[in-house]
Amino acid sequence: MPQFSNKSLERLATCDQRLQDLMHEVIKETDITILCGHRGEEEQEAAFNTGKSKLHYPYSKHNSFPSMAVDIAPYPIDWNDLESFRKLSVIVKEKAEELGINIEWGGECFGKFVDMPHYQIKEV
Ligand SMILES: [Zn+2]
Repeated sequence: MPQFSNKSLERLATCDQRLQDLMHEVIKETDITILCGHRGEEEQEAAFNTGKSKLHYPYSKHNSFPSMAVDIAPYPIDWNDLESFRKLSVIVKEKAEELGINIEWGGECFGKFVDMPHYQIKEV
C-alpha cells in the first residue's frame, strides 16, 4: 500500500481534519504526494507571483489555519499527464462522498483558471 513521505505528512498536518481524513483514504487507492497545505503570507504571495494562485494573501483557502485547501498530485508526478490528475479527482470525489465531505476540485471550480492539484472544502 502506498504511504505518505514525511514531507507530505508534514504538509497534510497543516490542513483541516476533514482534508487529512480524506487524503488518508485516497492514498489507500492510489499513490499521491501532498504539495501544499497551509500557506502563510510570504508563500501565498510567491504562489501568486508564479501563477500558481490567482489570489493575494489572505484570500486563498490555503491561508487559514488549519488550511481549508490542499494541493496534491499523483505520484510520481508528471505535470504533462493531465489525465492522471483527472482520474485522481474522480477518486478524491468518491472518497469525499463516502466520508460526507463537501469538496471542490480546482480543475473545475475556478471557471477559466484550471488548478489541477487543488481541492478545497466547500462552504455550504
Ligand atoms: Zn491550492
